[in-house]
Amino acid sequence: MKESQIRERIVHQGKSIFQRRLTAGSSGNISVRLDDGWLLTPTNSCLGELDPAKISKLDWAGNLLDGDPPSKEHFLHNAVYRQRSSYKAIVHLHSTHSVAVSCLPDINPENVIPPLTAYYVMRVGTLPLIPYFRPGDQKLGEAIGKLAGKHSSVLLANHGPVVAGTSLDAAVYAIEELEETAKLYLLLHGFNPRYLTEDQISELRS
Ligand SMILES: [Zn+2]
Repeated sequence: MKESQIRERIVHQGKSIFQRRLTAGSSGNISVRLDDGWLLTPTNSCLGELDPAKISKLDWAGNLLDGDPPSKEHFLHNAVYRQRSSYKAIVHLHSTHSVAVSCLPDINPENVIPPLTAYYVMRVGTLPLIPYFRPGDQKLGEAIGKLAGKHSSVLLANHGPVVAGTSLDAAVYAIEELEETAKLYLLLHGFNPRYLTEDQISELRS
């Protein structure tokens, strides 16, 4: 895909995410790896109103090559891309149900949401919790970097999910699956639901 087409696709997916209220205001950001750097949605931009020409283009040292200044969460994306060359796009949202789960007291930090459905297991797998850091704290990048090599999806405590994919569409679909499963998890709270078994999970992974 040409860079101009990738920019249009970011605008399209941003609008779709915003219109369905998967993130609000100027929260959330989307990035895509290019052959000569990477694209990231600009700081203080609303995902529903992106301009393809103003999307930030950066090099791997963090220098702005083109467009508006990047999201302040750029270091978080950079830390994930460094872990695996197969990560081609990253979506980070402040999606309500995922954030709600990230605030619960008794979640397992090694795998926050239990295996409720096959598509969750296939698209997200295990979901570790990253401890809370204030916005912009570089230590958040270090903490994500440690886990992103093994996990394409992580959940930031009291903040929101970060999901990497082999394409922009794959990352968007995975973060949507995560958000819907977080909603199911909250709906089922107190009902003692049946989770997928170890055998069912390994069948999906093979
Ligand atoms: Zn954020």
